[in-house]
Amino acid sequence: MKEGREGILVVISGFAGTGKGTLVKGLLEKYDNYALSVSMTTRNPRPGEEDGVSYFFVSREKFEETIAAQGLIEYASYCDNYYGTPKAYVEEQLKQGKDVILEIEIQGALKIREIYPTALLLFVMPPSAQILRDRLIGRGTETPEVVKKRMDRAAQESEGIEQYDYIVVNDKIEQCIEDTHAIIEAAHCKPFRNERFIQTVREDLYRMKTETN
Ligand code: 5GP
Repeated sequence: MKEGREGILVVISGFAGTGKGTLVKGLLEKYDNYALSVSMTTRNPRPGEEDGVSYFFVSREKFEETIAAQGLIEYASYCDNYYGTPKAYVEEQLKQGKDVILEIEIQGALKIREIYPTALLLFVMPPSAQILRDRLIGRGTETPEVVKKRMDRAAQESEGIEQYDYIVVNDKIEQCIEDTHAIIEAAHCKPFRNERFIQTVREDLYRMKTETN
């Protein structure tokens, strides 16, 4: 991680089956500037998912208690379940200079933009709709009804893509990881994220100007 720079809140959204999870895993394995926010959800764990790693799996009652205690930055209802971002971890990691990744759907992404206007919103696209459907069926973890529900939801979500800062296409995952990392690194180079540095150089330039006159 580069010293002294502030962390960026990076929102990664995309239709179910676009490989967001693999992308995020790749970013975390390859680079040390990222921290992943683990969301809370009321949906049941899929085979292989671990509590506290994939999600905090909780009851509807516990989820509603956490909302009431203002423990979530945002939450949304998606395909009949609640999903939300616990607040404490995100704020702690940002303070430490980490780029914090939220893998969340569009309603949550837009709420994040309201609360953190400097958040970077990325949308992961499949190369085509046909490839998306093939991947969802090929995953083998969902019933045909769930696949249908998620394809319908994808059509609906596609209406919001223009509200994101960047799209990244997941054709080859390695390239997708590199593209995403490059976008985040470029975001760190925005002048508004480097105000103190710019100001220091500017002041030094003016001082030197008067010294040599
Ligand atoms: P899945 O059930 O496939 O794990 O997730 C369903 C959707 O919920 C995905 O689009 C995922 O990005 C989104 N999601 C996961 N965690 C959160 C969260 O904390 N908040 C919101 N708004 N969406 C989330």
